[in-house]
Amino acid sequence: MTTSFLRRAARPAAVLLVSGAATAAQELPPPEKTEVWKPAPVMVDPGRHGGPPSDAIVLFDGTDLSAWRGRDGAPQWTVADGAMTVRPGTGSLTTKRGFGDAQLHVEWRTPTEIVGESQGRGNSGVFLMGLYEVQVLDSWQNPTYVNGQAASVYKQHIPLVNASRGPGEWQTYDIVFTAPRFTAGGALDQPATLTVLHNGVLVQNHVTLEGPTVFRGAPRYEAHADRLPIMLQDHRNDVSYRNIWVRDLAKSAP
Ligand code: MG
Repeated sequence: MTTSFLRRAARPAAVLLVSGAATAAQELPPPEKTEVWKPAPVMVDPGRHGGPPSDAIVLFDGTDLSAWRGRDGAPQWTVADGAMTVRPGTGSLTTKRGFGDAQLHVEWRTPTEIVGESQGRGNSGVFLMGLYEVQVLDSWQNPTYVNGQAASVYKQHIPLVNASRGPGEWQTYDIVFTAPRFTAGGALDQPATLTVLHNGVLVQNHVTLEGPTVFRGAPRYEAHADRLPIMLQDHRNDVSYRNIWVRDLAKSAP
């Protein structure tokens, strides 16, 4: 009885829906009108999971530092067991090539043995254009100011969650960076943005940067080149990196 009541009650509404859909379908153009076939996206071999896709520039494959410069010339960091490790005090490394808009994959590891606390524990950093830092830090049960913990955009954006692995474990950053744009006169036209996945977890969702990373005071943009080297920071902790690759997105930028 209940079922037949529902059936009766539903019938007029269903008829209305069907006739409404039929009218809308008559008014709409054929679906082919909104299909785009050309130009087809370029084929890219995605490679193994986490590895460089075929259109990536490999910055470190575990063997040498040929893509990098040191503070005083040749890079002084250690290369062993497929990883490169900060030699504290020898300076940060910068890529020989410059990049603007980019997709960057970096794997990093803080020391197994916990030494220090807060900002002194496994501190390093990935600086897009050498200016905009995604913080590297051992943030496994290591309280610090939250806009300076791992996966923060240092002193600007707190990560959405703490997706850290423990000390001594390899971790990943997948970063999408859009460089700032400046007018010919040197004024800011469009600020930089960052999206970051930490160990595959979204932690920065297209955040807008207020300017280059600064330790003290407020960030402020100053016009700079369209392409600048990526930098890995020597913060005097034995942080290691491996499997670093970048896709140059500036080539296709408007
Ligand atoms: Mg740092």
